[in-house]
Amino acid sequence: MTNPSTADDPTHTPLRLLVLAGDGIGPEITPAALHVLETVNDILDLQMTFVPAEVGLRALKSHGTTLPVTVIEQATQADGIILGPVSHNDYPPRAQGGVNPSGELRKRLDLFANIRPARTRSNIASPITSSFDLVIVRENTEGFYADRSMHEGTGEFMPTPDLAIALRKISAHGSYRIARQAFELARQRRHKVTTVHKANVLRVSDGLFLRCVREVAAEYVDVAHEERLIDAMTALLIRDPRPFDVVLTTNMFGDILSDEACELAGGLGLGASLNLGATHAMAQAQHGAAPDIAGKDVANPSSLIGSTAMLLGWLATRHQDPRLAHAGTIIDRALDAVLTQPTLRTPDLGGNTGTRDFADAVADKVRELAE
Ligand code: ATP
Repeated sequence: MTNPSTADDPTHTPLRLLVLAGDGIGPEITPAALHVLETVNDILDLQMTFVPAEVGLRALKSHGTTLPVTVIEQATQADGIILGPVSHNDYPPRAQGGVNPSGELRKRLDLFANIRPARTRSNIASPITSSFDLVIVRENTEGFYADRSMHEGTGEFMPTPDLAIALRKISAHGSYRIARQAFELARQRRHKVTTVHKANVLRVSDGLFLRCVREVAAEYVDVAHEERLIDAMTALLIRDPRPFDVVLTTNMFGDILSDEACELAGGLGLGASLNLGATHAMAQAQHGAAPDIAGKDVANPSSLIGSTAMLLGWLATRHQDPRLAHAGTIIDRALDAVLTQPTLRTPDLGGNTGTRDFADAVADKVRELAE
C-alpha cells in the first residue's frame, strides 16, 4: 500500500522537501542553496527533512532515464521540491530515456504558474540607472512548449524534411487561473498588472488569453490593469522598468522577458523563481545549466537560494505557519546583506568568491539574523 500524499494534507508536519541537483552547475548551486536552508532549518528548529534524488545525466547513467518514475512518485509525495538546472538539450530522445525533468514535473504536478521576480539591489551594477522591483507571472503548462502542449506526442512535427510545424496551446482554463494568480499577487504588492501579449498577430490564441484576462481584471477593481504588445514591452522594460509591478504573460514570452528583466537587475545568477500549482511547488533558478562554468566553483547560487526562500513563503501560506515565512524572510535578508559586499560576490558580479564560500557567507548571515 502506498502512503497517502502528504502534499494533499497541508497540516502534515514535519515537511519533507525533495532535492534534485540536476546537471551543469546544478550539483554546485543546489548544495549551496541546501546549506543555507539547512542552516535556517536548524536555527529555527523547523524540523524539515531533505530527501536527495538523482535526475538528469547522472540518473540516465544509473537508471537509464533522466527522470526515473521513483522520482516522479517522490515529487508527488513531497511537500516541496528544489530542482537544480538541467541540460535537457543534451539528453537523448525520450525513447532512449531523455525526459526534461523541469517540463515534465511542471506538467505532471500541474505547476501552472512560474513566478519570476526581478529587482535591483543596492550597488550591484545594472545596465540601467533606475532601480526597479517587478514580478513576471508566466503561464507554465501550455503555450509554445512542444513538450507541454499535447496530451500525447509532441507539439512540434515535420510533415516533410523541409517543413516543420509547432503548435501553440492557449486554453481558457489556463488563462483564467494564471490571470487570477497575477491579480492576487498584485494585491500583495503595488496593485498593478501589465498583461503582455501579441493579439494583433495571434488573434485567436492571444485573443482568447486577453479575453480571459480582461474578465478576471474586472473582478479586481482595486488593481490597475494595462496591456502591452510583447515587442513594445521588451523596449519599454529597457527604457524604464520602474512603472511595472506584476507582469502577466504566456509561457514563452514570460521566459524571454524574465531573462531580460533579470539581466537588467544585475545578471542571470540572481534570478530566483518558483513554480506553483494548487498543491505543489518547486523552487528552480530562472537560468539553465550553464555548462561553460560548470565544475569550477564560480557559479552564483543566489538564484536558487532566493528560490528556496520563495518556496518557504509558499509553504508558510499553505501550512499557515508564520515560522516558515520568517525563515524565508531571513534568507532573503541574508542574501541581500551578502550581495551588498563586493568582496563576497561571485565572479559573474565582479567578485572572486567561490560558490561554496558564498553559500557559507549567506549561512553565517542567516545565523546572525536569526539569533
Ligand atoms: P538554457 O538553454 O537551459 O537556458 P544555457 O546554459 O544556455 O541554458 P543559461 O544557463 O540560462 O543558459 O545562462 C547563460 C549564461 O549565463 C551561462 O552560460 C553562464 O555563463 C551565465 N550564467 C547563468 N547562470 C549563472 C549563474 N548562476 N552564475 C553565474 N553565471 C551564470
